[in-house]
Amino acid sequence: MLGDMKPFRLAGNIYFVGTYKASSHLIDTGDGLILIDTGYEETADVVIESVTELGFDIRDVKYILHSHGHGDHSDGTPKILSLAEAETFLGAGDEKYIKGWTPDHLYEDGQVISLGNTHILCLATPGHTEGTYSFFFDVEVDGKVYRAGMFGGAGTNQLKRPYLNRRKCSWLNRGLYFKSVERLKKEHVDIFLGNHTWNNGTKENYEKMLTSDVNPFIDDTKWVPFLNSCETLAETVIRNESRDLFVNYAHRGASTYTPENTFLAFYTGMYMGANGIETDVQMTKDGVLVLFHDDTIMRLTGAEGSVCDYTLEELRQFTFEKEGQIDKIVVFEDFLKQFGWRDITFAIEIKQAGIEPQIADMMRKYGVEGKSVVTSFKFDCIRKIKEYAPELHIGWLKRNVTDEDIEKLRAIGGEEICPEAQEITPEKVEKWHREGFNVRAWGVYDEELMRHAYDCMTDGMTVNFPDKLTEYRKDN
Ligand SMILES: [Zn+2]
Repeated sequence: MLGDMKPFRLAGNIYFVGTYKASSHLIDTGDGLILIDTGYEETADVVIESVTELGFDIRDVKYILHSHGHGDHSDGTPKILSLAEAETFLGAGDEKYIKGWTPDHLYEDGQVISLGNTHILCLATPGHTEGTYSFFFDVEVDGKVYRAGMFGGAGTNQLKRPYLNRRKCSWLNRGLYFKSVERLKKEHVDIFLGNHTWNNGTKENYEKMLTSDVNPFIDDTKWVPFLNSCETLAETVIRNESRDLFVNYAHRGASTYTPENTFLAFYTGMYMGANGIETDVQMTKDGVLVLFHDDTIMRLTGAEGSVCDYTLEELRQFTFEKEGQIDKIVVFEDFLKQFGWRDITFAIEIKQAGIEPQIADMMRKYGVEGKSVVTSFKFDCIRKIKEYAPELHIGWLKRNVTDEDIEKLRAIGGEEICPEAQEITPEKVEKWHREGFNVRAWGVYDEELMRHAYDCMTDGMTVNFPDKLTEYRKDN
């Protein structure tokens, strides 16, 4: 059973032994074979028979290099290992994707894997996955030496936020992808290998080879344009998402029209088309998490002291009024009961230090971890909650965002930067997006600022008048 591609000599000692959907390459080093990627489980036999068809023996495979851990590149490995006593290589971080085998070696960035006449430089190029590696090596063709190169994970669908959420991957993988593309552009490549045939036109080039004396795979003009196209695709993913998945967060609910952080405010926000709710969490004297913004209760109740000076029962005696509408304080758990199951995004702001574990536990109880971003102006609060619950997305509220802030946030795995709306420019948003961060604006006090923040291609904003944003988004 041969596959949908005929095995063939691609150039020098490199042979194509894969299928149309998943490339595998065989390198004859003169002292054993190296196989790069093994394809799907169901096409492992195709790879094995392709090796035989070319006159090689699968048992001579000494090394199996995996470009990354996704099943289309590595699920064939157990079958091949049942025939060949090969040593396997994988990038650290990709162990979670593989099944049925354990890598013998994790690559080191910049490592050279040598066998016979072949020396393969392995570069860490994460993004598509955490452990994606790319390969570069010299190949002799008719007495001339060429440089072969492969980008180990070019696909950009894996950079989409819903995909990343499903796989519990960091949104920062996007930033890694852009950095990897930049790094790869510095490599000179004469023979561009694809781990999918559509990357380098394997099928078309093969067909050209049949009728031509010139090897179309040897072409140093293909590599950089391909990387440029990868970059454009990744930018498009992020740009489209900033519109399609934009989050209109009712800020403390629809707080222009209703008493803030009350059920009245949250339901009004939903009614006005918000697809997110932003709220603030504090703890009462008797240890109950409630939704309240200010450090003191004076503005909303006229009374002295802070939330932590009162029990829940005492706080329930107060009423909050706005525009003639009246409501009472909301317990965080009650909020999650009523809204947690809905298809909306939550921005949960930590207003007190020390209550991070309780907030995370409550979010876990109602299963809202994946669709929430926990934020704070207090860096220590987001650091602590991320340590306690690494699965939570965290965002940092900042007035001005410096490059140092970005590095600080990255260091703790923070994925969202929340600058003040009036500090935002399209250039800054583009830069933060390329770094891998989601960008959410706050401090949107009027409609002009709202339009500005939206037009800067942010991914969301907190707004007291979500109806106006809903309206604006209809035409923009
Ligand atoms: Zn993949």
